[in-house]
Amino acid sequence: MARHSALCTATLIAFLSVPCLANRKLLVFLIDGFRYDYINEHELQNLPGLSEIVQSGVKADYLTPEFPSLSFPNYYSLMTGHYCNVHQMIGNYMWDEKSNKSFLIGENEDSQLPMWWEASEPIWVTMMKNKRQVYMYYWPGCEVEIQSTRPTYCQQYYYYPSDKNFSTAVSDAIDVLWQGKADMAAVYYERNDVEGHHFGPWSEQRKEATKSLDETLRSMNMKIKELGLQNELNVILFSDHGMTDIFWTEKVIELDKYIKMSDVLNMMDRGPIVSLWPQEGKLNELYSNLKKVKEMNVYKKDEIPDKYHYKGGKFVAPLTLLAQEGWFISENIQKLPYWANGTDGKKGWQHGWHGYDNDLMVMKGFFLAYGPDFRSNYKAPPIRVVDVYNIMCHVAGINPLPNNGTWSRVKLMLNNGVNLSCTAKASVTVLTLMLGWVFF
Ligand SMILES: [Zn+2]
Repeated sequence: MARHSALCTATLIAFLSVPCLANRKLLVFLIDGFRYDYINEHELQNLPGLSEIVQSGVKADYLTPEFPSLSFPNYYSLMTGHYCNVHQMIGNYMWDEKSNKSFLIGENEDSQLPMWWEASEPIWVTMMKNKRQVYMYYWPGCEVEIQSTRPTYCQQYYYYPSDKNFSTAVSDAIDVLWQGKADMAAVYYERNDVEGHHFGPWSEQRKEATKSLDETLRSMNMKIKELGLQNELNVILFSDHGMTDIFWTEKVIELDKYIKMSDVLNMMDRGPIVSLWPQEGKLNELYSNLKKVKEMNVYKKDEIPDKYHYKGGKFVAPLTLLAQEGWFISENIQKLPYWANGTDGKKGWQHGWHGYDNDLMVMKGFFLAYGPDFRSNYKAPPIRVVDVYNIMCHVAGINPLPNNGTWSRVKLMLNNGVNLSCTAKASVTVLTLMLGWVFF
């Protein structure tokens, strides 16, 4: 009996000292191109939905994107907790020299090949493997079969979902969570990025997009309360990167002024960061000529600074060009990525871009979270994109895979109190132990 008591007590202590994973429903939002200061104190005064979330939950000062501060690399760092040189998604445009396959942002078929996606496992695949149900709306990549797994539901991305699509998706997401069909739902919203590119980060058009987002979030807050979900559901919102002004009238780096473009075998992307594959024997010539451009850095693969966690990536080109803030790299002015602005053809000038050094404040994104597992009205210090994965796993109640996130940077966001699912588990254990004492 004494031996049993000691054993049981030891078991109880061991059980209670293990940090308990929360296990509630989770709703996440990926708000593309939403810079951290779009919700500074001044802006929040006119954004009641977002203000309510800030007051009732956690707001990080800012969210540092992984390098490069582009969409796909950061979508995947958010969902895997891995740096780009680990998950291998190093750009919006990638080329695999060996197979001559290309990954192009948007809708090309080869972008769905496992080779781009399977170096890391995103959270939705881990959830599915754990028999949890995941609904995803317009989330780039949810249509891809990763490790033979797809989410329970995927509303496929297209360019670009309307505000009506978004508000309907949010409403549906809450319904399926409430009905018990989903354990996690994920919704993507693009308009802030689109308007930020076309008109600039502080344009009226971008502000309108933020207001529209705010209205949907306000309705969401109301719906969560109406359905009595506020103690069951955690909501996390984040972006992939920020946005800065660009100036095509004066800050374009025209590569063909420095090199012969015929010496380039392949070039991927235009803008702040460009990848070049030189023709055979042309690497050093291209390198030394491009070194003359004052407004950008040119790196051979092994020269890329370690702080970017980028150079080990298997799709990294022999030459990487990185422009200074506000500068834009292209073959020449004619090849700039103009947009169809309702005039005839693609003639609209872009006024905002991202992809620059991720230390620049204008590249920082935002992070908000609220719900039963988060502290309320709490201002958290800055976090990194790779940190988001651990917090999602924790509140969803799954064990995170090994990752590059730092737990100490996010654990302060959590409620200190023992959460309900832990209390329930502890009660069962105590009851079992008491029965053990009685019968043995
Ligand atoms: Zn963008």
